[in-house]
Amino acid sequence: MPHVPPKLNAFPVFMRVEGETVVIVGDGDEALAKARLLGQSSGRLRIVAPEASADLLGWIAANAAVHVARAYAREDLNGAALVFAASGDEPLDRRVVADARALGIKVNAVDRPELCDFFTPALVNRAPVAVAIGTEGAGPVLAQMIRARIDRMLSPSLGTLASLAVTFRDAAEKLLAKGAPRRRFWREFFEGAPARAVAGGDVAGAHAVASAMLTGPDTSTGHVALVGAGPGAEDLLTLRAQRLLMEADIILHDALVPDAVVAMGRRDAERIAVGKRKGCHSKSQSEINALLVALGREGRRVVRLKCGDPLVFGRAGEEMAALRDAGVSCEVVPGVTAAFAAAADFELPLTLRGVTSSMMFTTGHDLKGGALPDWAKLAISGATVAVYMGRSVAADVAGRLIEAGLSPDTAVAVVENASLSGCRRFHGTLADLPALEDRHDLAGPVMTIIGDAVAGANFSRSQALAALPVRGLTRNEVAA
Ligand code: SAH
Repeated sequence: MPHVPPKLNAFPVFMRVEGETVVIVGDGDEALAKARLLGQSSGRLRIVAPEASADLLGWIAANAAVHVARAYAREDLNGAALVFAASGDEPLDRRVVADARALGIKVNAVDRPELCDFFTPALVNRAPVAVAIGTEGAGPVLAQMIRARIDRMLSPSLGTLASLAVTFRDAAEKLLAKGAPRRRFWREFFEGAPARAVAGGDVAGAHAVASAMLTGPDTSTGHVALVGAGPGAEDLLTLRAQRLLMEADIILHDALVPDAVVAMGRRDAERIAVGKRKGCHSKSQSEINALLVALGREGRRVVRLKCGDPLVFGRAGEEMAALRDAGVSCEVVPGVTAAFAAAADFELPLTLRGVTSSMMFTTGHDLKGGALPDWAKLAISGATVAVYMGRSVAADVAGRLIEAGLSPDTAVAVVENASLSGCRRFHGTLADLPALEDRHDLAGPVMTIIGDAVAGANFSRSQALAALPVRGLTRNEVAA
């Protein structure tokens, strides 16, 4: 037996209110909430509020609503298209409902479903696009939760895009054959270059590409978004990253991006792990570049998902250059970089008034060889240093910095799996840092932060680095 859903007792429609009068009866918060909701429409609000609260008065003034500042009378409903009884006073609300019904006007009584001819939805407003969520009064909290989810999925610029679409409707009908060609145009319009131009605030540019799409040959091309997945926790993904994941045809992700984040993409999107982990490269960087270009040229919408921020030790520079050379459009979505997540886990101020006013992102891998790299010099002059990929070179980093004159007592914080539930914190001094190299039990990614600002961190949930064994050198030798 096929599943038959139960019948809706309230059927959703979109009612035209432009130029129509909508009456709200009530003085307080319920009336204000309805005024805010209806104020998103071009209906004319008449608010019957003899003892309007200060907030309601302020709203009425700011929104040029009509204020009836005396007790409710039946004629207040004259000519109304919709009525809201929002006084919170049951006898009065009942009177308003009875009067409206006698006049043949649909009425809603706040918090009294049995008196309602219609229910007000939770609303996602991207005018002219609206998504209305109704639960027949069963779950206002549920409706708000659904609303929040849908709101996240829809681009803030969707309304502008939809308004632009209206101006293309006639031309599309005239110039494009019904069926596939027209569908292709609109799909590209709402998800391709015109949508991206509107999202970037360039409505004129969107108009130009859409016009070219109408008259020129089929120029729809793919697009690659280099997206920061953040440090690992799903809820540190940005809303934009999440939306692009939902729109992608194909997701290319690194090894460090947890499955739970990759899984936030559309269920039918193709997924390719191009992960590079220390020691086991499944694809070379030039293979990845070539793959991105090929997918873009095929017209696919690609998300290249990188851990943290894509522009920080993410090889994004090479990927963007390859795409640019190939004429494939690309964009970058920033993410929470590991240094920020590690600092947050440690409640560690990266800049600290009177102590340090600069910070740097670096990797210890350039410390071999003779001259001290610039970042080490900056560390010595007091900057906070975030060391990426620093576990296997911890002794080098510590040894060279101390040798160059940074105090062995300088504070150090180390975070494994920042932002994730398996997060571990260690603290100590520069002299303790070499111990990190022998911690083969630290299987997750590790971030090291060095500098005087680290002294301002919260050490209550962290272990002492000094408790770790040091390979080769004794701690005194390192300090010497
Ligand atoms: N683009 C990334 C960095 C990639 S390099 C970013 O912006 O964060 C990989 C290094 O990042 C790892 O070796 C480690 O030092 C750091 N890293 C990434 N995720 C981390 C995490 N959850 N916790 C600690 N360090 C992390």
